[in-house]
Amino acid sequence: MAVTAGGTPVLILKEGTTRERGRSAQSNNIAAARAIADAVRSALGPRGMDKMLVDSLGDVTVTNDGVTILKEVDVDHPAAKMMVEVAKAQDQECGDGTTSAVVLAGDLLGRAEGLVEQEVHPTVIVNGYRLAAARATELMAKHAEKVSLDDQDILVKIAMTAMGSKAVSPHKAFLADIAYRAVKAVAEPREAGWSVDEDDIQVVKKAGGDATDTELVEGVVVDKERVHTGMPSRIEDARIALINAALEVKKTEVSAEIRIRDPAQMQAFLREEENLLKGYVDAIKATRANVVFCQKGIDDLAQHYLAKEGIYAVRRVKESDMKKLQKATGGRVATKIRELSAADLGHAKSVYEKKIGEDKMTFVTGCKNPRAVSIVLRGGTEHVVDEMERSLEDATSVIAVAVEDGRYVAGGGSIQMEVVRGLKDYAASVGGREQLAIEAFASALEILPRTLAENAGMDPIDTLIELRSAHQQGKKTVGVDVLGGKVGDMNPLGVFEPLRVPRQAIASATDAAVMILRIDDVIASKATKPEKGKGPTAEEPGEFD
Ligand code: ADP
Ligand code: MG
Repeated sequence: MAVTAGGTPVLILKEGTTRERGRSAQSNNIAAARAIADAVRSALGPRGMDKMLVDSLGDVTVTNDGVTILKEVDVDHPAAKMMVEVAKAQDQECGDGTTSAVVLAGDLLGRAEGLVEQEVHPTVIVNGYRLAAARATELMAKHAEKVSLDDQDILVKIAMTAMGSKAVSPHKAFLADIAYRAVKAVAEPREAGWSVDEDDIQVVKKAGGDATDTELVEGVVVDKERVHTGMPSRIEDARIALINAALEVKKTEVSAEIRIRDPAQMQAFLREEENLLKGYVDAIKATRANVVFCQKGIDDLAQHYLAKEGIYAVRRVKESDMKKLQKATGGRVATKIRELSAADLGHAKSVYEKKIGEDKMTFVTGCKNPRAVSIVLRGGTEHVVDEMERSLEDATSVIAVAVEDGRYVAGGGSIQMEVVRGLKDYAASVGGREQLAIEAFASALEILPRTLAENAGMDPIDTLIELRSAHQQGKKTVGVDVLGGKVGDMNPLGVFEPLRVPRQAIASATDAAVMILRIDDVIASKATKPEKGKGPTAEEPGEFD
């Protein structure tokens, strides 16, 4: 591309760069973003369908989770990528509501396009959308109810609603109860309310068995068995050594040849090794430790000495597990065995081995820090367990979020219908061209109950009419009873969501829609192929980690 300055063309953009401007750029972006929304629409709600995703390596994921779907598909269009960001933002903020956020963003854009065709300037639409989003947030807060950590009944219902759309739904009551107990165990009191760090809840997956074999463990579970069957399989009043050093004789880097000329020398050489390993075990014993978690290997001979001392030992423990053990037991990881002291030991009531399915695992329970909990997930196959994990994550997230904010609302599209009503009044009070945008925003919010109805096989138009009239009559919690296939009150059904989920869905969706609407120029550099043997490709590092 070039402009001319005094007759000489000045090159601004590199050759091969494409550029698209104005309306066509905009409608192109909107089309791409809406395509993403359409792709996930059918997954919304308890009657939503699952998607089977196959990645470039042929790995299969079966899921109903909006953000998982979008993370797995490889989108190319920049506007479509922004939609993927919406899902990720939503997932980070609340761990649920990702499909809703994307579907809403798609509809906001669709309606904006209609307004642009009526010659409403994108800036006006953007302003109107921003005003509407702010008011919608206020309205939602106004209709929210209080909830606290002890309201088990409500919190379990919130978790069940989040899991209702997933394949695990037959076991949702069982899993919701586990999620509640897990959050309750890790919640920390704050000046006002609670704070929950979900990283404190460890999930260990083991395919096989039945979903109902899933259990909550108050402590840490390490997916490793003890190294030697001569060791005790259970230790009470555990004093735990955490070691990040090999209990082995160091192998030399270069292969050395040792010439041994007489048997006595051989003896001495072996004795030397033995002494070294014995020394390690003696150093551990001196601290009075009766459990060892070693991040590196443990030599056979060292295993034998440890067993003789009645010490329970596990080797090649993952670094992440070491961190959890450190936090849970109050121990400190030693990097040199000889420097290990009694003060470094962690403590737990019991450490024991337990068979889960085919494998044995090590359970560390009754930890010094009661805030360490683990969930051992069981279920038919790898795919089932993976989807269970995502569902359980949704469940713990929504409980955590509800407890942190202390607020929840009725789901099934009822809160959105209530907000729509408020926004319509508000639009009239704003007037002017922005009024059109605010009204469009309100209509876009109806996409959620509408899609829930569609996915439940209900007539979307009739459903909306019924919903509007119920809300007109002040029935604030009436929404789509997806499972019953009719319009109904969400309170007796226990379809509840944390306030933050629908509120954040509006925020994420509005941000994305606004960002896409404000673009009137797409300048794309020519894709350059990476030269052979030169560094990594242009992929963003670790984007989907
Ligand atoms: P998201 O990824 O947006 O969380 P979901 O597939 O989990 O998508 O669907 C969430 C929507 O389904 C919410 O609006 C929620 O209120 C609604 N929902 C969940 N369970 C029910 C139910 N039993 N009846 C009606 N609506 C429900
Ligand atoms: Mg959900």
